[in-house]
Amino acid sequence: MSCPICRKPTDPAYKPFCSRRCADVDLARWLRADYAIPAPLTEMDEETADAPSQEDQK
Ligand SMILES: [Zn+2]
Repeated sequence: MSCPICRKPTDPAYKPFCSRRCADVDLARWLRADYAIPAPLTEMDEETADAPSQEDQK
């Protein structure tokens, strides 16, 4: 079996990956896919920019 990320031999300690790095990469991919929504990050910009002091604590 080989690492699904980089195809190197798997390390039993990080199964099914070859290293912690690849495990992290896979996790990041997974999370990104989960959050892969076209959410406008401008919402935050608006708040920090010139938003009226209607909501102080977020
Ligand atoms: Zn790897």
